[in-house]
Amino acid sequence: MFNIIIIGAPGCGKGTQSANIIRKYGFTHISTGEILREEVELHTSIGEVVKKFIDRGYLVPDDIITHEIFITATSQPQQTKGMLFDGFPRTIFQADYLDSLLFQNGSKISLVIQMDVDEDELYNRILNRSKDSNRSDDHIEIIHKRLKEYDKKTHPLIEYYRKQGKLQTVRAMDPVKDVFGRIANIIDDYLIKEGK
Ligand code: ADP
Repeated sequence: MFNIIIIGAPGCGKGTQSANIIRKYGFTHISTGEILREEVELHTSIGEVVKKFIDRGYLVPDDIITHEIFITATSQPQQTKGMLFDGFPRTIFQADYLDSLLFQNGSKISLVIQMDVDEDELYNRILNRSKDSNRSDDHIEIIHKRLKEYDKKTHPLIEYYRKQGKLQTVRAMDPVKDVFGRIANIIDDYLIKEGK
């Protein structure tokens, strides 16, 4: 199985590029942001708890995330070509958890794609999106908190995966189509190298 993580600060375009990757390669998309927003919309007991964190711009606690990932990942069809993790892992704890979950299934992370966008542009993109996203966390003060959470808790993962030799960084300031071209080249190279 070919498992990819797409990582980057809020507003970098992970969701958009994930949709493109899924369309081209047919991987299973696992987005913790979407899973959590669905819990909120359905007013589940988990939804009530996570809403408080999301609306304030904080990461949701690791134990809730690992529970959600366990349920989602283990309910996927076995014959999937691979999984694309979008917005997960976001802490070192989550990354260790993912490694052990995959290991138990005889699998591993193949590739980590980091999307690199300047901070000013992150604000622009989120504020632009907020006009029709209806997302409770797409407001200026909350965006600021989300970016701080990213720097403190998620950015250390870049080094974590670089040390494992799995990290590929994509400059993601250009139009969606160009950025996707770069991402597809990285994935294609990897698939050729692995003979898949
Ligand atoms: P973005 O990357 O633009 O912030 P997401 O949809 O990935 O958007 O995440 C939205 C919010 O959901 C995050 O700010 C966070 O509160 C919560 N969240 C999503 N994934 C995780 C995760 N893996 N760990 C902790 N919190 C998460």
